[in-house]
Amino acid sequence: MKYVEGSVLQYDDRWRFTKCTVSFENGIIKKILDGSNRKPAARGVIIPKLVNAHTHIGDAVVKNASGTLEELVAPPNGLKFRVLKECPDKEIVDAMKKTADDMFFSGVSFFCDFREFGIKGINQLNNALKNKQIKCVKMGRPEKLEYHRDEVNEILGRCDGIGVSSISDWDYPELKKLARHAKRKNKMFALHVSERTREDIDKVLDLRPDFLVHMTKASESDLEIAADSNVPVVVCPRSNVFFGNIPNIPLMIKKGLMLMLGSDNAMINNPDMFTEMEFAYKVSMIYGGVSPETIFNMLTVNTWKFFKIQGGIEEGGPADFLVLNTHSSMDAIVKCSSKHISFIGGKKCMKR
Ligand SMILES: [Zn+2]
Repeated sequence: MKYVEGSVLQYDDRWRFTKCTVSFENGIIKKILDGSNRKPAARGVIIPKLVNAHTHIGDAVVKNASGTLEELVAPPNGLKFRVLKECPDKEIVDAMKKTADDMFFSGVSFFCDFREFGIKGINQLNNALKNKQIKCVKMGRPEKLEYHRDEVNEILGRCDGIGVSSISDWDYPELKKLARHAKRKNKMFALHVSERTREDIDKVLDLRPDFLVHMTKASESDLEIAADSNVPVVVCPRSNVFFGNIPNIPLMIKKGLMLMLGSDNAMINNPDMFTEMEFAYKVSMIYGGVSPETIFNMLTVNTWKFFKIQGGIEEGGPADFLVLNTHSSMDAIVKCSSKHISFIGGKKCMKR
């Protein structure tokens, strides 16, 4: 049995700090006790691990990424597609493994990845994540911008759903067939929306997506329609700013959208969610700001609810917590860096 002690951050209807000792064994929290009475493995502020709701770890292998959104990431001829087509399997898989490790060591327990390149792409992702503690919701997609029933069946047999670039890249009837197929198989369907240009929200929602990514160019009414349809949105502020856009997080919150946070393309951003969290908090100030709790929810409770993750620090739950060397306030946590992590809980827990 191991122990950590300090100020534990837990959620019921809001976030609270309590002075306690947390005991855990084999990756499971056994007891949460008042005060300190053991020799702990670490002392500090104990918070749940974070969730990264949107990545493309497959493009970690691409170097010198500079250019417009279209030049870099648009299928089928953007830089990432050209580089990855030429790149040996092993190099791609090794870069993915490293990115997954970087994410784990910066405090992420769970991420959702969009993987390109059809069946081959999903196989590479599955290989990269073998024996990793970090968990992943895998979203594959057809190799070409075309619907082929057998290919989709095979992809869906190896992952959790389909995640595509955007309706603008696809022939709409083909995309509709793809979305319907995923839903028929009880798998997820998600897509990037209104990132480069505003896209038709009614057409997007007719695809019955489980979640949307970006919405930086969406109008106020588009945000309202998505909110009224209870479709959550993943925002990726560092990625958006890289391409010259600023997501209006305060407006999205005001319109009632459920927001999650992602680091997007690994060739553009490192997947450190402490960096993303601080950036999201600061960039929101341009549009009037939101509370640190609102930002923190985007990497914790909102994602737990959506992805059905058991994420809080609770007796009997997974020991997915971090010990931070900082103050016990939400303001301090959103401004923390992953360098403040002194201990990572889990099956293979470790001091840092
Ligand atoms: Zn993306």
